[in-house]
Amino acid sequence: MRLRNKPWAKPLIEANPQFITTDPKKYRSAWQERFKKKAPLFVEIGTGKGQFIIEMAQEYPERNFIGIELQTSVAAVVLKKQLELKLNNLQLICANGSGVSEYFENGEVTGIYLNFSDPWPKKKQAKRRLTYPTFLEQYKMVLEEKGHLEFKTDNRGLFEYSLMSMNNFGMVFDKVSLDLHQSEEAEQNIMTEYEEKFSQRGQVIYKLEAHF
Ligand code: SAM
Repeated sequence: MRLRNKPWAKPLIEANPQFITTDPKKYRSAWQERFKKKAPLFVEIGTGKGQFIIEMAQEYPERNFIGIELQTSVAAVVLKKQLELKLNNLQLICANGSGVSEYFENGEVTGIYLNFSDPWPKKKQAKRRLTYPTFLEQYKMVLEEKGHLEFKTDNRGLFEYSLMSMNNFGMVFDKVSLDLHQSEEAEQNIMTEYEEKFSQRGQVIYKLEAHF
C-alpha cells in the first residue's frame, strides 16, 4: 500500500504520543503500562489502514493490541480512527517491523499477525519478506512460549515461500487453510482491507497459524 505523502501525518503523530510512538524501543518490556489494564499482547506488523487491528481490539476487549506500520501517512490514517474510537486496548507504532526484537522484551508478546504482507516477489528482495528467517528469529524471541503467529495472504507465491521458510525454521503448523473463506473459520474471521478487496475479486485467501 502506497499513500500520497500527507503533510498533516507527522504533526498528528507527534501530537498524540498517548496512542502512537515512533520510538518503540522506549517501551520495551513496559508496554502494558500504556494500556488501561494488563492483558495478553497481540501485535500486527504492517497494519495498512488498520481495519483488522481496530476490529480485533473491539471484538476482544480482554486482549491488548499493538499495530505496527512503517509508513507515516498510513500510520496516521489508523491514528485518526483511534482518535475517534479511543480504544483503551489499542496502541500504535510507526516504525519498521524489522526491529521487533528491539521493541519487545523476550516473551512479551502472545500473538503476531501478518496480513497481506508485501510479497517482494524477486529473489533478491526475499530478505524484505516478513516471513524471511531473520524476521522469524525475532518473532521467536519476542513471543512467549505458547505464543503463535497467524499469516493471511492472497499471494500463492508468498504463501508457499512462507510455509517453506517456517518449516525450515522448525516451526510447527497448527492450521493451514487453502481457502479461508470457505472453511469453518470463515465465520469468526476478521477481514483486512486487502482481504475484502481481493476476495471481492474472487481470489482465494490462504491462512496459516504456527508456533515455534
Ligand atoms: N495488512 C493490511 C491489509 O491486509 O489490508 C495492509 C496490507 S499492505 C499490502 C502492507 C502494509 O505493510 C503496508 O501498509 C506497508 O507499509 C506495511 N509494511 C510493509 N513492510 C513493513 C515493515 N517492515 N514494517 C512495518 N510495516 C510494513
